[in-house]
Amino acid sequence: MSLKKSLSYCILTFYTAIFVLSFCLFIREVMVMPDASSLRPKIIKPKTPPVKKNLFLLCFLVACFAVNAQSVNIDGRLKPHLDAFFDECKKYGIDYHEKLFKLKNITIVDTLPLSEDGYTLGMLQRDADGNVENIIINWVTLLDPEILKVVAFHEFAHYFLDYKKHVCSDCGIIMAKVNTSYFDIVREWEQQVKNLFEESPAYQRKKKLSVLTMSMSDQ
Ligand SMILES: [Zn+2]
Repeated sequence: MSLKKSLSYCILTFYTAIFVLSFCLFIREVMVMPDASSLRPKIIKPKTPPVKKNLFLLCFLVACFAVNAQSVNIDGRLKPHLDAFFDECKKYGIDYHEKLFKLKNITIVDTLPLSEDGYTLGMLQRDADGNVENIIINWVTLLDPEILKVVAFHEFAHYFLDYKKHVCSDCGIIMAKVNTSYFDIVREWEQQVKNLFEESPAYQRKKKLSVLTMSMSDQ
């Protein structure tokens, strides 16, 4: 794990601990009923009310936490496809939040190779430790919205659905290594997405786990 990432996790853990602590303090201030001693007359000193003070601290920490947790940059041109992909994840019960916040960028670039010898329409970029930090898509996919959609889902599936390799070389599905016709895939899009999710390593693992849990609870 890189130093920057470790530091980021430490900060996140620190904020979480402070957030929980301050939330508890806030709840205590609001919820605790006054005891008998507090009903005795007291000399009132002008000071910041504790509830107000804790509320301010709570808001500050929530803001810090939110800034820290949402550090992934998402290209606006990919956002609708990412949202559609996450809707499918929800449908199949696949959690994506943890993986999403491990990324730095989901973006369109002009640095991927594009020549007669070969081309790359998208890829996952890793850091020195081998952890995925960016999902990048070649700018050339912007020339056709259908191609952009297929390539985006292909790269998202590599990362979020754990497709470590391609299903075939050129077989007319989203997880093929190359596709001669993207338009055939788009024509039967709903069925393609269904197969993509149902046959994914992430969903298969989840299914096996739930069968195992069920058989254990039967014993
Ligand atoms: Zn691929």
